[in-house]
Amino acid sequence: MRLLLIEDETALLDLVQRSLARAGFTVDVAGTAEAARDALAASRFDAMVLDLGLPDEDGLTVLRELRGKRDSTPVLILTARDGVDDRVAGLNSGADDYLLKPFAVDELIARLKALLRRPNGALGVVLEAGNISFDTIGRTVTIDGRALPLTAREMALLENLLRRVGRVVPKRHLEERIYGFDDEVTPNSLEVLLHRLRRKLTGNGFSGEIHTVRGVGYLLAEAAA
Ligand code: CA
Repeated sequence: MRLLLIEDETALLDLVQRSLARAGFTVDVAGTAEAARDALAASRFDAMVLDLGLPDEDGLTVLRELRGKRDSTPVLILTARDGVDDRVAGLNSGADDYLLKPFAVDELIARLKALLRRPNGALGVVLEAGNISFDTIGRTVTIDGRALPLTAREMALLENLLRRVGRVVPKRHLEERIYGFDDEVTPNSLEVLLHRLRRKLTGNGFSGEIHTVRGVGYLLAEAAA
């Protein structure tokens, strides 16, 4: 799941970013409202964490713009202001949830997962294909009920393929969903990652397979040909 974290406090950012990455999110960071706009114009995110006190503008402006474009990406706002008015303004502007600073990172992760679990969100909870099952909230994968340990990136790749079972997923789409702006991506990063994932799946008895569609992308088939 790809997340945009809009926050300017560097000390807080480091901790939050690392914890979210460990929880299986691909995290991009924007430190200003302007940077947030650029990121939103360049990519689609599964959720956003938005600090209201940004150095250039009020975070609510970003939120209102987003909702003005009928973009329903779940947004959790962070605010140090403890006034009831700010919270009400945030929720009225289309925020899905809010968290007051200071907060515990675990609480943030739990709230984000709850947002992504909402039925109106596009995200399914458990993705299945053949004998594989992927719990997108708990971030666990099983084959025939047996746990399959995967790295965060292998999981992100598998999740994106599972969301489009039986269809070719373009390489560009996968790269965009798996790697953040700051990740170093070489032309064959995705191929190497896919090779590793394929080997793990095959080695653990996956009933389907991942096909390479040369020059285009990859396709996960529920059953091996
Ligand atoms: Ca701030």
